[in-house]
Amino acid sequence: MDNNINDYSADFPILDQQVNDERLVYLDNAATAQRPRQVIKALTNFYEQDNANVHRGVHTLAERATKDYEDARKKVQEFINAPTANEIIFTKGCTDSLNLVASTYGEQNIMPGDEIVISIMEHHSNLIPWQQLAKRKNATLKYIELTADGELDLADAKRKITDKTKIVAVTHASNVMGTITPLKELATIAHQHGAVIVGDGAQAVPHMPVDVQNLDVDFYAFSGHKMMSPMGIGVLYGKAELLRAMSPYQFGGEMINDVHREQSTWADIPFKFEAGTQNIAGAVGLGAAIDYLSNIGMEKVQQKEQQLINYVLPRLVVIPDVQVYGPQSPAKHTGVIAFNIKGLHPHDVATALDMDGVAVRAGHHCAQPLMEDLGVTATARASFYFYNTKEDADQLIKAIKETKEFFNIGTI
Ligand code: PMP
Repeated sequence: MDNNINDYSADFPILDQQVNDERLVYLDNAATAQRPRQVIKALTNFYEQDNANVHRGVHTLAERATKDYEDARKKVQEFINAPTANEIIFTKGCTDSLNLVASTYGEQNIMPGDEIVISIMEHHSNLIPWQQLAKRKNATLKYIELTADGELDLADAKRKITDKTKIVAVTHASNVMGTITPLKELATIAHQHGAVIVGDGAQAVPHMPVDVQNLDVDFYAFSGHKMMSPMGIGVLYGKAELLRAMSPYQFGGEMINDVHREQSTWADIPFKFEAGTQNIAGAVGLGAAIDYLSNIGMEKVQQKEQQLINYVLPRLVVIPDVQVYGPQSPAKHTGVIAFNIKGLHPHDVATALDMDGVAVRAGHHCAQPLMEDLGVTATARASFYFYNTKEDADQLIKAIKETKEFFNIGTI
């Protein structure tokens, strides 16, 4: 792997530091990505020049802030190829977006006896909203299982999705195993049975080109902070006719048309779903992150991560006593790798790696049903992004070997 090509790490001031006297290697990108200078500058510019509340203000700053906010919406629209900007709703994040769909579309359309189909690899954010909706409505929640090598089992999906299915909600990429799912095929199956499909794009949009029209998803949710924007901003894409038929999620300012003593009417989409003052700076930051990613090109971003995985995965799986979960073939992976060292608790592994400057996460990764399925309670997780380097991968491998040595685990 030629590390001189496409090294973007210099754009990220936070990466230029030592942790525990070692060079920081940030491999917790699935939890949140770092912010490049360009995004930080866009936020500073917004606060130094344009900050005001949006919509209906006629003064210059309000008009500028409104333009910044609506420009960000257009950038999101283009980035995921949504047909119109009206179909882009700004939310607090992916969790908020998924709850919005469950609480509005789900509440209105799920009846007793209906079925909701999700997969066993869902993040709790794309599991609990459907589990609780099913409970409230006396509906059934069904799980699509995995194949032996940690992929979504499409044959099982075909069995589980039936004419009783009203909603299929599946992640586009696993936050634990890095598995990419066949979301487009699932959309076709869901539609053949008259169901809608909700895609959880939290681990996909930051890492690969995503085209919601090509996928033909009805709803698609993701978070800004995993793609370098500030925290507290996210997106729900929804097909316009579905969004228009849905009741509001929250009530208050900005989302109304007319309010009278006894009744009110709602604004058109997207404003109907954006009650109250929104995270305007967050949207501006997301727009700047999209500009940054678009400048590189999402194909290149994906290629760079693929190169890193091609490099690191084979070096990881050959270390004795290291178990990697999910697809072992780099081609089926995003930059996320879950692993354990036999005989060590993942928290101890993560603590030991941190001593070598390597930041990884350990725990159930908000995917407890998946952990049960894998027969573990927790794993360590290294998650790469395009600004990681070959040196980062080498430092991870070295730190894992040193951890084994330190704890006297098997052969090294
Ligand atoms: N889905 C997946 C696949 C995720 O990885 C995450 C974040 N770990 C979420 C949903 C929830 O995202 P957020 O916490 O930003 O709302």
